Amino acid sequence: MDNINKAKIKEIFSSIQGEGLYVGCKQIFIRFCACNLNCAYCDTDFYPDNINDKSDYFEFTPEELLKYLEDNFDINSTHSISLTGGEPLIWADFLKEFMPLVQKKYDILFYLETNATIDDNAKIILPYTDIIAGDVKLPSCSGIDVFDKHEKFYKVASEIRNNKGIWFNTKNNNFFVKVVFDDNITDDEITKTVNLAKKYGFEIIIQPRMIDDKISASKDTMLTVFEKFTKIYRNTRLIPQVHKFIDVE
Ligand code: SF4
Repeated sequence: MDNINKAKIKEIFSSIQGEGLYVGCKQIFIRFCACNLNCAYCDTDFYPDNINDKSDYFEFTPEELLKYLEDNFDINSTHSISLTGGEPLIWADFLKEFMPLVQKKYDILFYLETNATIDDNAKIILPYTDIIAGDVKLPSCSGIDVFDKHEKFYKVASEIRNNKGIWFNTKNNNFFVKVVFDDNITDDEITKTVNLAKKYGFEIIIQPRMIDDKISASKDTMLTVFEKFTKIYRNTRLIPQVHKFIDVE
């Protein structure tokens, strides 16, 4: 019987990671269609305009996707495969077949870029994941408040991390969150984010929002916000989106 477990994928490309703790690493990016959120700053054309127009996205079974990667990319010279979107955890049924398929054949890391709001699917996929690059969405910038969902997600992530010390190394650099902010960030949001980080043990990357490839927060805001975070949580880094400066995708 044919494998009908297919995922809709917007694009697949090889490039340089431009955000977070693995900035500069060579990755294969698999950008999945669809997302469960609707952030004000979302710049990702992640959903096909016309779901019936097959030219607007790829559709793969796990076996077909692995074959596509083997035919089009040099997997052995790549640091990690970035599962991104959209929201990749929407495709948990697909990923739970695809990830072990790759891991059986290749010594390559899986880097999960997630909005950190779907805890049920996290339970399925995080055991196959090497690096979690999650989000904390600030209402002042994203326009949505999902702190309750982040709480559930990061609880799951930290439990799996503690039980699976082999694939999460002893330092925290395989578990970090990105916090996109602008001049509207509030002290309450900083406190809530740091509380999550302390409770669940992740690093924080604060990332100024980009508008038209320019940093939207003022220099004063960036430095003030950085000081506020580090004062209560020293495992905080300020890293803008680097790939925009070297003009790569
Ligand atoms: S979580 Fe990411 S992909 Fe989804 S709406 Fe927000 S910015 Fe866009």
